[in-house]
Amino acid sequence: MTLSSARLDRFARHIVLPEVGGAGQVRLAESRVAIIGLGGIGSPALQYLAASGIGRLALVDDDIVDVSNLQRQTIFTTRDVGYGKAVSARRWLANFDDALQVDVSDARITPENAASLIAGADLVLDGTDNFATRLAVSDACVAAGIPLLSAAVGRFQGQVGAWAGHLPQEACYRCFVGDAFDAEDCDTCADDGMLGAMAGWVGSFAAMQAVKVLLAGVSTLGAPGWSRLHILDGLEPGMRTIRIAPDPACKACAASD
Ligand SMILES: [Zn+2]
Repeated sequence: MTLSSARLDRFARHIVLPEVGGAGQVRLAESRVAIIGLGGIGSPALQYLAASGIGRLALVDDDIVDVSNLQRQTIFTTRDVGYGKAVSARRWLANFDDALQVDVSDARITPENAASLIAGADLVLDGTDNFATRLAVSDACVAAGIPLLSAAVGRFQGQVGAWAGHLPQEACYRCFVGDAFDAEDCDTCADDGMLGAMAGWVGSFAAMQAVKVLLAGVSTLGAPGWSRLHILDGLEPGMRTIRIAPDPACKACAASD
C-alpha cells in the first residue's frame, strides 16, 4: 500500500515521529480493529483510533444512546439520543473521515457469536461494562489468535490490559479475572457514577496501547506489553503496572501454552 498525498498530509504529525514513520502509518492504514462497546471507553478510543488512520474498524454495540450517556460518551450528541450506538458511531465516523472502512453490528456479544464479530481483526479493543461479555470476547480472541486490549473504568479507577493468551507464556483476560464472573451481567456505572474525563483518560490510553500493538515489529514505538495490567488512579493521579501470570488451569488459554 502507498499513501496518497492527501493521506500523507493528514498524518504528517505521525509520519514525522521516528517511532511511527511512513512504514508505521502504512501499517495502521492496513490494520483492522474491532471495537466492542461504544460507551465511555469505546467513544474516545474510536475517536483516536479513527484519527490515527486505522484503515478498517468494526463497531459492535447493542445499546441505544441515552441522554445520561452524553456526559462521557463523546461521539454522541443530543440528536443521537434514542438511536443505536453502532449506527450513531458510524455516522460520526463518516463525518470524520470517509476514507475509513467501517462495519457495524448492533448484536449483543455472546459466546456463540463472538467469533464471527471479531473475525478478521488484527486487534480487538473491548470497552464493555460487564464480565460476561468481556470473558466471551476474550475467549474468542484466544481461540482466533487475535490480541485483545481490555479496558474498564469505574468511579476514579481504570484498568487497561494487553492480552495475548494464544501465545506461549502469556496470560489472557480470563487468567486475570477467573471463571467466577461468567454469569455476571451488571452495569455498575449506573450505580457508582463516573467522572466523564476519567473514562476519556482510560479510553484514550487504550487507543494509544492499541497503536503500540499494531506497530509492533514495524516501528520503534515499543513492545505491546502482553500480560500487563495498567491501573489508572484518577484521584492521585497516577498509574501503576502489574504483570499477570498465565493461569496453568485457565480453560481458555492453558491448552495453547
Ligand atoms: Zn488464560
